Amino acid sequence: MAVAARDAPRAALLAAEYFLDAADAVGTRAWRVAELPAGHVLDDGEFAARLTAAGIDAVQVPAVDWPYCAPPPPGRHDPLCVLPPFGRLNTDQWRVLVQAAGSGGGMRITPWRTVVLPGAADPAPLEAAGLVVSADSPWRSVTACTGRPGCAKSLADVRADARALVERARGPLPVHWSGCERRCGHPRGTQWVDALATQDGYRLSVGGRTLPPRPDLAAALTAARETTSSPQSPKTQ
Ligand code: SF4
Repeated sequence: MAVAARDAPRAALLAAEYFLDAADAVGTRAWRVAELPAGHVLDDGEFAARLTAAGIDAVQVPAVDWPYCAPPPPGRHDPLCVLPPFGRLNTDQWRVLVQAAGSGGGMRITPWRTVVLPGAADPAPLEAAGLVVSADSPWRSVTACTGRPGCAKSLADVRADARALVERARGPLPVHWSGCERRCGHPRGTQWVDALATQDGYRLSVGGRTLPPRPDLAAALTAARETTSSPQSPKTQ
């Protein structure tokens, strides 16, 4: 479904409300769209009707086959692709991005937690603001859920823990840090290291296989990320 840029925020809220209504109707406490059972999956026609009722013009567009759509790597090329660590932007970073976008062709926010700046040429201000523009940055393969203090379910400040080890625990496999068993935002379509917060620290696993605990988390994580030699970029839920 395509809508005008000015309507995008309202359309996104309506999409979220549509999911919440469907989840309420199901009564299974579905947490993600993919968890809605057959018979309750979200329907394009119903969503279009909700948009129309809200006064938003929408056009049906073909579905994108995400698993075969490679995320653009961050890098100093044209267009410049910028990766905010954890897909999060603070106010100062937004200002830097808007300034860079204003010098050229605007900005595009991608489904892979990156921002594409078609007209930006100078990555220096973006790097200085803590944004990633290097294709070989270790941030490319590190994701995390909200964790503490943003999520009451979390057993740890997973983002702080991931940030502390991002340089020390590198490896070919992507790693996703989760504060609880829900593993919000975990990668799909690729093998990845699951760093799950527990009462005693973190439990590491790959492909459902739990790895033996080690006292040095950085060393354990590095070893886990070496489990296979196929470097891939994660797609996220
Ligand atoms: S994985 Fe758990 S702790 Fe992390 S955001 Fe989701 S519910 Fe919260």
